[in-house]
Order: sequence, then structure tokens, then C-alpha cells
Amino acid sequence: MRLLVLGSAAAEAIPGVFCRCRVCDTARREGGREIRSRTAYMLGDEIRIDFGHDAFWHTVRYGLDHTRLKHLLFTHSHGDHMDTPDLWYRKPGFCQVPDDAVLHIWGNEHVMRRVESEVAPIDALRVIPHRLRAGGAAELMPGFQVMPLEASHASEDEQALNLVIQTPGGTVLIGNDTGYYPESTWARVASLKLDIAFIDSTYGTVDSCGGHMGLPWVVKTRDRMAKLGALNPGCRVIANHFSHNGGATHAELVEAYAPHGIEVAYDGMEIEL
Ligand SMILES: [Zn+2]
Ligand SMILES: [Zn+2]
Ligand SMILES: [Zn+2]
Repeated sequence: MRLLVLGSAAAEAIPGVFCRCRVCDTARREGGREIRSRTAYMLGDEIRIDFGHDAFWHTVRYGLDHTRLKHLLFTHSHGDHMDTPDLWYRKPGFCQVPDDAVLHIWGNEHVMRRVESEVAPIDALRVIPHRLRAGGAAELMPGFQVMPLEASHASEDEQALNLVIQTPGGTVLIGNDTGYYPESTWARVASLKLDIAFIDSTYGTVDSCGGHMGLPWVVKTRDRMAKLGALNPGCRVIANHFSHNGGATHAELVEAYAPHGIEVAYDGMEIEL
């Protein structure tokens, strides 16, 4: 099964539409991996994680057929991860959705509230909402289980989630949009056996861990996971969800992370599970 990184940016994307910073100027000039759309992932053709401002662009760039999408998982309700107009256009009269196409939407309470008000009426759209709770577990389909973790990424009263997804080919952590984990989450991490771990690196190489993280904290997180035995031998640890405000280009991030044995995600990165 293919795990595809659809996007690898934080909220503003890179280059930021109105931004004149060095990272954004480099992206405009160099293109390629310096260009980042908002973070999201595909697991095979039937499971997608997050559907933000760049969802339409992702379907075009990667040739995605979302009539085959069965499960849409949301980490949290921020706009770079949850953008609802294209979901609402599943509605009859706007869209010819195959008769047997049902979309299961998974997320926290804030995501469910937005689904109820913005992706409505769910019956007409053939959407089935499912509430995810940190510490719980849910089966998506045979062989695929999701275990949400409490992230350190609160805004107002929202509980953002990181997602551990077990697949027949291995276990993946979608660990973006978090600062350094709270101790309650570390207690759960201790029981994990990960094969792929995406970790939030919004701040690039900056030493910061409030709501997001930079390199020193990504390394600390990886090291503690290793000490707890949560990383299977050969586990790939991949930094993701980068902001231009972190001040580092893709090339600079690769150079900074290489000595730590940590990979740097980019739009279009493919991993075989
Ligand atoms: Zn984000
Ligand atoms: Zn910029
Ligand atoms: Zn967020």
C-alpha cells in the first residue's frame, strides 16, 4: 500500500501568497520540493487524512479519484486541515456521486460540529460522521485501525488529535500539529510499535515547542519514543508540517536533520507500506 504525502506545509503554505521572506522567494525561484501545500496524506485510495485549503489542488496534482474515498480522517478543525466547501459540493445537484459511494468522516468534537453545520444534510451527501476520542480506538475497515492521541495543540477548547493508524503493512503516526506531548500521551506512546512516524516541525530548526515544534524538540520526541521502545527496528522518522516562518528552506532542513537520521517530508513523498 502506498502512503502519499499530499502536502507538507503549515497554514500559510510555501510560498505564502503575499510573503516576501527568503524561504518563500527561494520556493518561487527553485520550485520542486521547496513548494509546499497544506499538510495531508493518502493511505492507498480509500483513506485520506485531512482535507484543507489545498484539497482540490491535491486531486489534480496526484490524479486522485475521491469517488473511491471511503474514510476521511481529521486531526483537528483548523482551516489548513479542514476546509468544507468541496465536501458540501457532494450534494446532489452539484455533483454526480456514484450511488454506492458513502464517505465516513472521523474527527474530534469540533470537527463533528463543523460537519453537522457545514457538510449538511449528511443524508443527502451520503456522509457518515464518527467521533474520535483521544485514548480510544476505532476500526476503519478490516486490518485498519485508528488510535487517536491527545496532541499539545489546543486552541480555545478544541482537543487536537494525532493519529496512529495500523495497517496490514505497518503502523503509522500522523504526528503533526502538536508541541511536545503531554505526559498522558507519552503513557500511550509507550505501548506503540511504529514503522513510520511523522513528527511536527512547523518551526523548522528553531528551538521552540509551543503548539508546534522545531528540530531540537523533534529530536527529543524521537529519542524518547526510541527509549520507550515505541519505534520498531527500521522505523522511518519524518519531520513534516513546515512553516516559512521557521526560516529554513527544504534543502537547509534536509541538511540540518540528516545528522539525526530524520527525514524531511515534501509534497509528493511516497512510502511503500
Ligand atoms: Zn496545521
Ligand atoms: Zn514567507
Ligand atoms: Zn492546527
